[in-house]
Amino acid sequence: MSQLRIAEIFGPTVQGEGALIGEPTVFVRTGGCDYRCSWCDSLHAVDSEFRHTWASMTTQDVWAKVQRLSRNTPLTVSLSGGNPAIQDFTDLIALGHASGYRFACETQGSIAKPWFGNLDTLVLSPKPPSSGETVDWAAFDKCLDAAKDAAQIVIKIVIFDDADYAWARASADRYPHLPLYLQPGNLEVDPEVAVDPQILADKLLWLVDKTMADSWFAPRILPQLHILLWGNKRGV
Ligand code: SF4
Repeated sequence: MSQLRIAEIFGPTVQGEGALIGEPTVFVRTGGCDYRCSWCDSLHAVDSEFRHTWASMTTQDVWAKVQRLSRNTPLTVSLSGGNPAIQDFTDLIALGHASGYRFACETQGSIAKPWFGNLDTLVLSPKPPSSGETVDWAAFDKCLDAAKDAAQIVIKIVIFDDADYAWARASADRYPHLPLYLQPGNLEVDPEVAVDPQILADKLLWLVDKTMADSWFAPRILPQLHILLWGNKRGV
């Protein structure tokens, strides 16, 4: 069984984003990421200064915690990070599936893993220019190839400004066959700072107005539900 580097395991709560928004979920957040996005809201699972808070856990221990949190009632387990694609989730997915659990994974699409094909949902979230990162589309396409047996593959793009929007349109054109989700970015990532719901609503309206004005009807446009409910608080 694999050893996993875990930043936090929490839930059950509702998925706050994308294709599975509102779905009861236990989150398994891994430690470590090959990106350093300028607006990352999960630095506690990315930056090595938090490494001492991460735990090296066996797959069995992670599975036991998922079962305990979900009270042995099957639900969706979301593998997030950091970049969960750094780790090997083959065994955890097999254990969970045997008990009726479903698995989703969200990753930027920089590292392909064979276990992507065992997922119920793979969310590929390529990062726009405002992140300061550059997408390696060859690596992204390898992720798609690895996930060809997954039940569902979707693309989710966070948008902060006009340049991100233009980039998202061009990027989405590469994958017209995949469901696409857009969400406005949230620049306030400090867990101690309250989020202003009006600012979130204004950003969502800006994105809706832009896509409608452009007759771009392919994406679904969603808010970050968990930010509306809990702000940047961790572990909910
Ligand atoms: S890919 Fe995700 S976890 Fe990694 S730095 Fe970017 S936003 Fe943070």
